[in-house]
Amino acid sequence: MSLNDLPSLSETIKTYDLGANKKLGQHFLLDMNLTDKIARLAEPLEGYSVAEIGPGPGGLTRALLLRGAEKLVAIEMDERFISALAEIGDKAEGRLEIAQGDALRYNIAANLKAPRKIVANLPYNVGTKMLIDWVTASPLFWEQLVLMFQLEVAERVVAQPSTAHYGRLAVLCQSVADCRLAFEVPARAFTPPPKVDSAVVVLEPLETPFADLKTLGRVTQSAFGQRRKMLRRSLRSLAEQNNLVLEDWLAGAEVDPQARPETLPVKAFQRLAQALKASVG
Ligand code: SAM
Repeated sequence: MSLNDLPSLSETIKTYDLGANKKLGQHFLLDMNLTDKIARLAEPLEGYSVAEIGPGPGGLTRALLLRGAEKLVAIEMDERFISALAEIGDKAEGRLEIAQGDALRYNIAANLKAPRKIVANLPYNVGTKMLIDWVTASPLFWEQLVLMFQLEVAERVVAQPSTAHYGRLAVLCQSVADCRLAFEVPARAFTPPPKVDSAVVVLEPLETPFADLKTLGRVTQSAFGQRRKMLRRSLRSLAEQNNLVLEDWLAGAEVDPQARPETLPVKAFQRLAQALKASVG
């Protein structure tokens, strides 16, 4: 018996009575062509430990195993799915480990051997929080993230300056990783369909990721917290809190005080963070 002999995902859902729970952001992918397309983005899988967040009935889980994931840890909060996932595990020759619990509290770096990848059709309600945790981890503990988000979040990850979606998420993600939007997925591809379309993004660590995400986070929070204001206004209180002369700080980072945050390149935010850190130690 092999992974190919498993019942269809619809049968699995019927057998185990796995109706979607909206509170847990449950929208399932039952089309194995689509789950395979996502798994292919994560190739090569041989030699990697893979964490899958929110496997649900296991469509993406199956695809990742079929594509050769050497060790797959599937972290699922909803215990109703555990029996269906165990059925997949029985056919996976020891390659699937199921961890029941909240992925926000699961320590991937401690529990999975390097090199690691994270692949997921993320629950919308906690997806962005998870992504921020992963990109701000120091050091980065992953070699690749392949993540399905609602389209708007995916666009925020890859956005360029002076575009509508450019903001804090773009600056943080692009400071540590090469970020690309691989493909869009229409809402009707999910069961049940969510209200909005989705997209898969792929993040791969830069050769030299920006190191101080904590300070970068403070700068971007202040700047984008008042998105419409010029930086000489929005960054004033952060300068004061750190006993910095605002004009000197901006000049040192070669940033125009009259610029608005959405026009500022990622590198300029990094210079602001470096100058802030250097002056406060
Ligand atoms: N991967 C499945 C698929 O593509 O069909 C299900 C994706 S569904 C969008 C999100 C899954 O994440 C659900 O199975 C849900 O129970 C699970 N989930 C929600 N919050 C979670 C959390 N904090 N930790 C782990 N799993 C979570």
